[in-house]
Amino acid sequence: MIFDILTIFPDLLQSPLNESIIRRAREADKVRIKVTNIRDFATDKHAMTDDRPFGGGEGMVMKPEPLTVALEQVRGGNKSGRVILLSPQGRQYNQKMAEELSCEEHLILICGRYEGVDERFRAKSVDDEISIGDYILTGGELAAMILIDSVTRLLPGVLGCSDSADKDTFSRQLLKHPQYTRPRNFDGEKIPEVLLSGDHKRIEEYRFLESVKRTMERRPDLLAREWFSKEEVSLLKKNKLYRTVREIQEGQ
Ligand code: SAM
Repeated sequence: MIFDILTIFPDLLQSPLNESIIRRAREADKVRIKVTNIRDFATDKHAMTDDRPFGGGEGMVMKPEPLTVALEQVRGGNKSGRVILLSPQGRQYNQKMAEELSCEEHLILICGRYEGVDERFRAKSVDDEISIGDYILTGGELAAMILIDSVTRLLPGVLGCSDSADKDTFSRQLLKHPQYTRPRNFDGEKIPEVLLSGDHKRIEEYRFLESVKRTMERRPDLLAREWFSKEEVSLLKKNKLYRTVREIQEGQ
């Protein structure tokens, strides 16, 4: 998988791209990530990548020419790659979109700044617009990094333990169960006994029930969309949770 990032602040991305799982994935060639400075493609002598908006008003707008030439350069003369503009006006990002993007071969991420990019560049060259949430960032770099991080960890062989991404929150419409590690006793607080039982079936059931309870309390909107197997339904019934689950599901 290849990510190309087009930005006017390439240094902002250096640390997150060179630490932890992303660094290891790059070293193992599971992912290739290239950062291109849009300023290198500015045509005037001051290397301007932005200008005042026609019609007046606040702020500056990113000029279409440097963006277009930078994009042509990273594409190497063909039309390969899906071009994504990070924008608060785009589709709201979620785990399902991360899964879809992890099947692509080449993603080109355009980081806006100031008031955003010239509309003609957006209309002509952008395939998709993605927002990471209903708030405004100063630029698209951190949004691009969130997308890269969430997609990279889904690529085969990137996470050490092969199934750890499958069991994350949002892999189903359920929040993950609470987690405990050493010490067994922390400030008088003990861990649930079942986790020391060594009985894997009981542990799995306990975790499933905790996960359902947590989702009920915090994100009933997710629970409303979840589907349960026959075995899970009987476990929920046995633990007197099924009725509430159905009420939530029917009420939505
Ligand atoms: N004036 C624009 C508007 O009201 O829609 C906001 C521009 S914002 C200050 C500058 C850039 O940050 C945007 O062009 C975009 O690339 C990025 N950005 C800001 N918020 C974002 C979000 N929620 N998701 C993704 N990118 C965002």
